[in-house]
Amino acid sequence: MAGPFSEFLEFAGNFRDVVVIIDGAGTLLAGSSSASELLGYDIAEHIGRNIAEYVHPDDLARASSLLATAVQRAGMTVSVDIRVRHAAGHHIPFEILPRNLLSTRGVVVLTGRDITDRQALQATSRRTDQQFQTLATAAPVAIFRLDADGQCAFMNDHWMKISEQPAADAVGFGYLKVIAPTDREVLYDVQRTRSPHGAADITVVSVSGRTRSAVARWTEIQSDDGLNEGWVGTLEDVSEHRALQARLSHQATHDPLTGLPNRIILHDHLARAVDRPPADGTGVAVVFIDHDQFKFVNDSLGHATGDNLLVAVAERLRETVRPGDVVGRFGGDEFVAVVTEATNESAGQNASARIVRALSAPFTLGASEAYICTASIGIALWSPGASAGSMLRDADSAMYRAKALGRNRVEVYTPDMQSRASERLTLEMDLRTAVHTDELIVLYQPILSTETGRTNAVEALVRWDHPTRGRLAPDTFIPIAEESGVIVALGERVLTLACREIGPYDLALNVNLSGRQVQDPHLVDMVARVLAQEHFPPERLVLEITESVLMGDAQATAVTLTKLKELGIAIAVDDFGTGYASLSYLSRFPVDCLKVDRAFVAGLGSRAGGNEEIVRAVVNLAHSLGLVATAEGVEETDQLAALQALGCENVQGFLFARPLSLDDLRQHLAVGVHQSVGFNQLVPPT
Ligand code: C2E
Ligand code: CA
Ligand code: CA
Repeated sequence: MAGPFSEFLEFAGNFRDVVVIIDGAGTLLAGSSSASELLGYDIAEHIGRNIAEYVHPDDLARASSLLATAVQRAGMTVSVDIRVRHAAGHHIPFEILPRNLLSTRGVVVLTGRDITDRQALQATSRRTDQQFQTLATAAPVAIFRLDADGQCAFMNDHWMKISEQPAADAVGFGYLKVIAPTDREVLYDVQRTRSPHGAADITVVSVSGRTRSAVARWTEIQSDDGLNEGWVGTLEDVSEHRALQARLSHQATHDPLTGLPNRIILHDHLARAVDRPPADGTGVAVVFIDHDQFKFVNDSLGHATGDNLLVAVAERLRETVRPGDVVGRFGGDEFVAVVTEATNESAGQNASARIVRALSAPFTLGASEAYICTASIGIALWSPGASAGSMLRDADSAMYRAKALGRNRVEVYTPDMQSRASERLTLEMDLRTAVHTDELIVLYQPILSTETGRTNAVEALVRWDHPTRGRLAPDTFIPIAEESGVIVALGERVLTLACREIGPYDLALNVNLSGRQVQDPHLVDMVARVLAQEHFPPERLVLEITESVLMGDAQATAVTLTKLKELGIAIAVDDFGTGYASLSYLSRFPVDCLKVDRAFVAGLGSRAGGNEEIVRAVVNLAHSLGLVATAEGVEETDQLAALQALGCENVQGFLFARPLSLDDLRQHLAVGVHQSVGFNQLVPPT
């Protein structure tokens, strides 16, 4: 609490009023320290409670109807007097003046003034003019007296400070000249209704044209027989105070890091959009955006870099919103956009397309190089009966679905997702036990030499034989394992099984490491222990880490990789070409092999039009750094031929073999040089 509001709290000590910020329902969002002095509460401990708790029961109806008016109307409202409970239990009379500063947002600033001594002013007014003028001259506010017909009978000199109009010129109806025309109505109303007392916001446009915000307060003067004889009142310049309130209210409703609206505004804006059902056919969509790598950036590059990334992301998101729509920070690395458009479908689609586009260019974080940041996006579309809460929850479920389907994608909420979200949870729990049973199995995909056509390595690829769901592919559970941390146990299990099963063959063994494992401080010890325990020669082990993991915390990763290398293990960069790592960047790491991503290999060969440029560049890059290149996802003979021509050392893909069970691998190896695919034509078997 203290952080974002400390400036305000310090300032607020200068004012006599209690200032609190509440939402449209009366929930306390923030408040000034003067509350503790006047009412005995430590305001920080009361955030989130409803202000109704503090109002005298008999005054509650008046207070809430005043609040309702304030929520609906921006700007001026007339005050009410209510009794507010002191922490000690007794009540103190307060004059409450609500202001809705943010026009469309149900966020209200309440100013409260202790009026215990207003009676004193009333009493004074009945005494002699002499006494009254002595008081008036010293006062730090403008003090006036109006006749029953609204003419000014007296004005003190402070008036000049506010209006630049000499007090003498204010007399009669002269004072009205410096009151903003729209606010003159307030004064006419006071007079017409013979208002006994009250307060209102008044805009003063000074003689030189300066605009000041002021609060007028008045109390009627009664004759001895109780008739209205006019009013005595004060006018206080609150411009500075008002600017401060606006700032406080901005702080209560905006994320201090990114400056984006926070949850309060998002919820409020959505509630309004939903309340006004799209009868005219307009659509409302909630777009929930969660960053795939944020946690990773934060953990590995540090919080300062994480913050920079959030700010950069926020800036791009801000540019995607159109007038009338809102994008805000929901918490952590979650952002939410509330968009309205011609139809539901177009609102969701157009907004998410703009967001994906905005985030697609690499981010530059501090000294490190370009960083790709993908997001999982969930969309909920308006339907009859939808509420702000239900739409946010649905968009969140859809986002989780997008994550479960492998991240970096957009999913639109469907009613069955609710059950999928709980399904996901079940899957996570199942997985925790599965890593200790034989439900996890490992398949082996051959990696062949383009020179000899022989299989000289295999990549271990995990599968989960789920008792009720059957065999699951890694895409369905690796993301869950990473998010829940189970990946560490899973990784150890795969490495152990693979070393045990491949040990007897004369093959190198490639095993995938997830980002989370690379950050695990026990990784190197774990690998060393498993190798020793399974008697697997370190020289035959290749650990694959993706390019994006490499782009994370460069220094820590380089240290970990160096330690692994010291054990005699080789390192391959997986999915190379998708993460924008540059030559200079790559040369910092003790890497042995680049695996060209499947997407680039797909561009090779006659069917795809034979675009070899990227693959050529990657293979050349590998060779210039003294690394070996392995092409993934080779499916066609033409692709193999192109790769051979480019000098790519190894190939892996369905053309040669799918991931195989240990039995199938044994048969595959028995064939020797691969017969079916053209090695035998291109390279004489050795
Ligand atoms: P990856 O490391 O890029 O593995 C290669 C994936 O491409 C495998 O999918 C493989 O079956 C598939 N593939 C191989 N050749 C072809 C081809 O010619 N065409 C096509 N279309 N696909 C091909 P799989 O087994 O489903 O694994 C998916 C991903 O799951 C892997 O991508 C890897 O990132 C992850 N993964 C698998 N096993 C493990 C593991 O034990 N630990 C960790 N951390 N990740 C794993
Ligand atoms: Ca791999
Ligand atoms: Ca790969």
